[in-house]
Amino acid sequence: MASLIDGKQISQDIKDELREKVRKYKESGKEIALAVIQVGNDPASSVYVNNKKKACEYIGIKSVAFELPEETQQDELLKLIDELNADQGIQGILVQLPLPKHMNENLIINRINPLKDVDGFHPGNVGALCIGQPGFVSCTPAGIIELLKRSGNEVVGKECVVVGRSNIVGKPMALLLLAENATVTIAHSKTRDLKEVCKRADILIAAVGKPKMFNRDYIKEGAVVIDVGIHRMENGKLCGDVDFEDVLDKCSAITPVPGGVGPMTIAMLMNNCVESLKLQRME
Ligand code: NDP
Repeated sequence: MASLIDGKQISQDIKDELREKVRKYKESGKEIALAVIQVGNDPASSVYVNNKKKACEYIGIKSVAFELPEETQQDELLKLIDELNADQGIQGILVQLPLPKHMNENLIINRINPLKDVDGFHPGNVGALCIGQPGFVSCTPAGIIELLKRSGNEVVGKECVVVGRSNIVGKPMALLLLAENATVTIAHSKTRDLKEVCKRADILIAAVGKPKMFNRDYIKEGAVVIDVGIHRMENGKLCGDVDFEDVLDKCSAITPVPGGVGPMTIAMLMNNCVESLKLQRME
């Protein structure tokens, strides 16, 4: 039977460590502030934004909320980002996605000063990750590396298969695993013989957005399985991209949904906010 990788506990440990770091920074007169911008009132976005505010409060980071109406013009948002970029009192800027359809997300993200881009979405930060330079790393894949390390699942030399190649999960995940000296395969919707590719994996990262797609036929005996997907089922319960019950006795360790990868994303966002002091040479 697989052991469970407890993202709830690991994320709590990280938040407690960060809280202590922030307390020490405060003692030496250094404060961290995160600007959180939400345009419109998409209910899911409001939940995420609220959770981010709560995490900031817990750790001791000041969160400054900008709740802009749906009809806000792109130029107005760009102007706000310019102001926050120039504001010495703001260390992190986060624009909650998705943005309304009349806005160009890439243009908005690219406007954020990469040194304040705590989501790690700016091309400057993605490029830094690619060539192993310091920068902010996308929170979900960074959280998965922490899950693997803190649960004692060694990555060095392992065959890792990442299924999904999105800019915020799959691609940075593959780059991070490579940086940890894994042998990495990236699979996607055009991959042939996906089951066979997945069965090579000592560590399988499922990030496709398809409920319970990965059953035991995709899993090598004893593999570590990381389930990034989150889906609400008809019965109201959450499930992941992995068929948890079906694979449980075949893998050696697995992240549950909920309580696996999910809680790590906010913890790593908080970590990026704290790291911003180093990147901005304010430490
Ligand atoms: P995207 O939709 O952006 O990307 C999905 C990827 O999966 C694409 O690369 C796509 O391939 C690939 N894919 C889709 N169907 C298949 C298939 N049948 N076989 C192989 N590959 C396939 O999703 P995200 O990366 O943003 O998110 C993935 C999942 O993770 C979602 O369920 C999302 O909700 C969840 N998520 C969870 C987070 C958390 O905090 N736990 C944070 C972010 C995401 P192609 O490129 O060829 O189209």
